[in-house]
Amino acid sequence: MKFRDEPGYAAELDRNDPLADYRHQFHIPRNQQGEEIYLCGNSLGLPPLSAERYVNEELQDWARFGVRGHFAARRPWMPYHELFSECTARLVGAEPLEVVNMNTLTVNLHLMMVSFYRPTPERNRILIERSAFPSDRYAAASQIRLRGYDPDTSLEELAPGGNRRVLDMEEIEAVIHAQGERLALVLLPGVQYSSGQAFDIGRLTRAAHAVGAVAGFDLAHATGNLPLQLHDWDVDFAVWCNYKYMNAGPGAVAGCFVHARHARAFELPRLAGWWGHDKSTRFHMDPEFVPMPGAEGWQISNPPILSLTPLLASLEIFEAAGMQRLREKSLQLTGYLEFLLDQRLSGAVEILTPRNPAERGCQLSLRISGSRSQAREIFSKLEKSGVTADWREPDVLRVAPVPLYNSFSDVYRFVNILESIISAAQ
Ligand SMILES: *Cc1c(COP(=O)(O)O)cnc(C)c1O
Repeated sequence: MKFRDEPGYAAELDRNDPLADYRHQFHIPRNQQGEEIYLCGNSLGLPPLSAERYVNEELQDWARFGVRGHFAARRPWMPYHELFSECTARLVGAEPLEVVNMNTLTVNLHLMMVSFYRPTPERNRILIERSAFPSDRYAAASQIRLRGYDPDTSLEELAPGGNRRVLDMEEIEAVIHAQGERLALVLLPGVQYSSGQAFDIGRLTRAAHAVGAVAGFDLAHATGNLPLQLHDWDVDFAVWCNYKYMNAGPGAVAGCFVHARHARAFELPRLAGWWGHDKSTRFHMDPEFVPMPGAEGWQISNPPILSLTPLLASLEIFEAAGMQRLREKSLQLTGYLEFLLDQRLSGAVEILTPRNPAERGCQLSLRISGSRSQAREIFSKLEKSGVTADWREPDVLRVAPVPLYNSFSDVYRFVNILESIISAAQ
């Protein structure tokens, strides 16, 4: 991709952007100077304008119908979660049977491990990355203990060799191969939260299956960021949250995928609740649990309607924009950010995220040279200048231009501000 570093060029890119208008479907936070430069959709996405209307409609229907709202509401609450199946399936490359939105990410991860982590004395290891998101690690270690094993011997950690920051595929495949029959579960991210590295999910799944292990993925930073093909990649299970790139609000109800191969694996242990019961007989109130086939069979409780509603607003926008078109814009937007950083700040800012666009989503993780306290100082000056990005210890500045609501002008203004802060500090 060829870009130019000139005034007026970002505005030209924005004028030619077929997705530019989607920005107006979101609330962009403001400060005294106007709209913030919000580059933090990797942490909390912005609210769709329609989310507020939809939530109000649910409150109105509750007031109007009381309990009858389960059937009489304009979007009846009884089958409410089914409204999401088709668009969620399209978003992650799945069949509707394979997906459900329920609970929150770490809870879903536990539910999936209860069913799909089946340790035996010979095969009881879980492979995760050494720099895994802490919650995933706590979940995996606690599952190991719960089954009577010891994380010291059953939690296998993957770290890049030498002083590299990112793993390479051959390296991961070699570890999976070497672990062989001791490996029960490979639990890796779609996009690494700190480095922004995107993994080849299909290839990792094949490597896991080749040694007889289950392949599970945490797609917190991948869903809504990259096109996914979970069914075709043969992934066993995946979980994700809906508040990052999915823009469904703080603590939003999360997503879960279970491959159709396991849709009728009723012999698997699972933590059961009435909402996972076959819906044709759910209200017979029988003592025996009969699970629904597919991902819905892992539901426990009836869903929190008010927390699910913003996701409906968000999914409609994803459906209209299309994940493929969003990815095309994302490649441009992040490519432009990379270009400007290289052009202006190559000595002062190191890009930790892989340079190959196929190995990343929209986020770039940056390390600012100098001491940690100098870098933190630069981060706090960015905040004071109207830039919202985020900081991850020990030294990573994450910036994520999101194709749904960020513009090329946002990227251009961000680099100008960063450059002036860094040059003032020198
Ligand atoms: C954001 C994120 C989480 C958050 O977990 P919650 O259960 O939603 O609080 C977990 N894992 C990863 C990899 C994340 O990026």
